[in-house]
Amino acid sequence: MKKTMLLFLAFASSLLFADAPKYVFVFIGDGMSVPQRMVAEEYSQKLGKGKLILNHLSTHATTRTCSATSLVTDSAASGTAIACGVKTYNGAIGVDADKNKVESMAEAAKKAGRKVGIVTTVTLSHATPSAFYAHRQSRGLVYQIALDLINSDFEYFAGGGLPRYNDKKDDEYCGNIFELARSKGYKVLDKTDEFRKLKPSDGKVIYTAKRDDSMLYTIDNDGSEPTLAELTAKGIEMLDNPKGFFMMVEGGKIDYAGHGNDAATNLADLMALNDAVNEAMKFAKKHKDEVLIIVTGDHETGGMTMGVAGTGYALHIDRLKYQKCSIEKFKKIYKAEAKRIEEEEEREMVFADAKKLLEKWFSFDFSGKSAADDKAAGDKFAKANAVGKGNPMAINKKELEMLEEAFKDGKLPVAARQIINNKSGVGWTTGAHTALPVLTTCYGKECERFAGFLDNTDIGKTVKKLYKSDD
Ligand SMILES: [Zn+2]
Repeated sequence: MKKTMLLFLAFASSLLFADAPKYVFVFIGDGMSVPQRMVAEEYSQKLGKGKLILNHLSTHATTRTCSATSLVTDSAASGTAIACGVKTYNGAIGVDADKNKVESMAEAAKKAGRKVGIVTTVTLSHATPSAFYAHRQSRGLVYQIALDLINSDFEYFAGGGLPRYNDKKDDEYCGNIFELARSKGYKVLDKTDEFRKLKPSDGKVIYTAKRDDSMLYTIDNDGSEPTLAELTAKGIEMLDNPKGFFMMVEGGKIDYAGHGNDAATNLADLMALNDAVNEAMKFAKKHKDEVLIIVTGDHETGGMTMGVAGTGYALHIDRLKYQKCSIEKFKKIYKAEAKRIEEEEEREMVFADAKKLLEKWFSFDFSGKSAADDKAAGDKFAKANAVGKGNPMAINKKELEMLEEAFKDGKLPVAARQIINNKSGVGWTTGAHTALPVLTTCYGKECERFAGFLDNTDIGKTVKKLYKSDD
């Protein structure tokens, strides 16, 4: 009786869960929630670049992100929830709340005969990607995580750096990660042109754009590093085979820009993730009924919103186009210029020098002739910015005071960031993560399983069930 019942249940669940799609893509925007997606959407449409495909897939699900220990998750717990389908504590990589190893969807895919790819713009040993191949009690154990990477036998790794050594040389130290990877049959490379020449016949690959750092922000990438779309397209080329593949692609630096409250940089990296999703969509169009595409975020970062105190009903997201580099890069440019002036001109940097940099990198207009300099602008950015006449990047009296003050305090880049955020109407509440839900959008075979209201663990659980993993 019991046996018949079990057989029946097995039969019923095989009906409920058809075979996994031949090709599965999971895209994760780190720190990407609804505000980030909608700021980028608004920006893209305002600039005539059209809709963002990642926001316009077939199904949508509001997705809770809390970890086992906090309403506000970190990337390790949320990565583990998405990859493995379990709630765990902040900091955990591929282990549950009791520190037991839990299989990830990527490992389930591998078991089901698929080739596997892991792609990210941050280091390959970072929390989100490592949740798909590693099992460690702490995200800080990056050398051990890198050991798990080379032991995963996954076919394609592409992203930022990977730690080579373990400074502490503890029990688990067994040598240079790159040498170990080669001994396990990986082709290891770090040059952009080498990456672009990769062919499927090269076999298993680890590509690191940096030594032990994340890749460049999209806004700062002059083409010297591959884009996330390139990493994805190359992954498709390297992994495609008659048994199919699984690929996780992370836009990891959306989160970094969120921590830095840097809106222009944030949305540029989100749009780069959108371009990567577009590569998967092109592939899906050629492989009808064989592809599942999931796009989600692991949590929100920065408490981003559209509309800030003082801007009223005026929003000018398109003004973010005037910012030409990340705030992080601007800080370096600013420092270098101060040093150059000191060495070459033998004097200290003055505010007039700083103004030149602000004109170049933020298109700030110090002519004082525009509508933004009207008398109402005295104490509210809003009124100045809502006028709509004159140069939108004109600096009013209040803003000028703010910049001069910041210059004296050595905090000019921070003030520039605040001014462009205000002029655009983008607000931030924190430099950390928030508990806001994220949005999961889906396209293709089995996408209806990811609609409605989800917990982030549902994503891992469902994909693993599709692969009929018995873990
Ligand atoms: Zn994260």
